[in-house]
Amino acid sequence: AIPAIPMSLTNTDCPELKLIARGKVRDLYDVDEKTLLFVATDRISAFDVIMKNGIPGKGKILTQISQFWFDLLKGVVPNHLITCDVDEMPESVQKYRSKIEGRAMLVRKLKILPVEAIVRGYISGSAWSEYKKKGTICDIPLPAGLRESEEFEEPIFTPSTKAEIGDHDENIHPDKLPGIIGERYAKEVAEVAVKIYTKARDYARTKGIIIADTKFEFGVDENGTLVLADEVLTPDSSRFWPADKYAVGQGQPSYDKQYLRDYLTSINFDKSAGVELPQTVVDNTMAKYVEAFTILTGNPPQL
Ligand code: ATP
Ligand code: MG
Repeated sequence: AIPAIPMSLTNTDCPELKLIARGKVRDLYDVDEKTLLFVATDRISAFDVIMKNGIPGKGKILTQISQFWFDLLKGVVPNHLITCDVDEMPESVQKYRSKIEGRAMLVRKLKILPVEAIVRGYISGSAWSEYKKKGTICDIPLPAGLRESEEFEEPIFTPSTKAEIGDHDENIHPDKLPGIIGERYAKEVAEVAVKIYTKARDYARTKGIIIADTKFEFGVDENGTLVLADEVLTPDSSRFWPADKYAVGQGQPSYDKQYLRDYLTSINFDKSAGVELPQTVVDNTMAKYVEAFTILTGNPPQL
């Protein structure tokens, strides 16, 4: 028999549920006054542009990896996940089982704080660019002489504002946070973000993966409690490096979208025209996601 080639799901269509938003990757539906359906599609973005074709199965990996981390971190901070099991979802959602199974989460509807809680354990990406130019990251002065990909003595919290679709997020000094989300949440977000990054980093390290940096989103529930939301510690929201290939003073091979970014740079891609990814790039990207998932969780993803 010819093995089935999985189709990529780039848009969900659940006509009897109210679509609230399509993000770069996820489609959000209203379920009732307290809950949302949070569906990860196979869309992939890089440099803030969504590619024309998807990566078949990627949304399932993102959902399952977030589920894994929510479970590992639940002792430290409450999270928005109610269930990933379609059998436990309301009738109105079960109707769409064939489209959403494995890639959907029923989540608590929260007031999302308008900041990206970025934590960095190693210097890379935009942080490395800023440091090279100004000796700072998010305007936080850092010791001189750091090398590319070097580990910080302590993880640092480098928040950014959450931009509207199409806009770029803007890095801000942590001191600006209270002015945006208030004193109490500013302090709590910074503390919790560093704590969960550290716990995840230590876990991943035992599996041979370095989590160089990551981005969390938090919301506030009806009691004012801070709740971990969105996706967590996926290759889309984090830099994962194979520990056995780690070498300070250079860029690292990684399990995240760096491969795709490098491809796009190599073809001199035109942001306004969009890109249809060739099959090899699709396959290689998916292989990285599968590999990262399997190494981290010890099991292959359910695709
Ligand atoms: P990117 O992740 O690349 O920045 P995006 O921000 O458009 O893109 P998606 O992951 O596609 O995000 O969509 C998820 C959206 O859902 C985000 O806007 C996020 O803030 C929001 N969200 C996450 N969890 C909740 C929740 N529990 N309640 C309400 N909104 C949520
Ligand atoms: Mg997102």
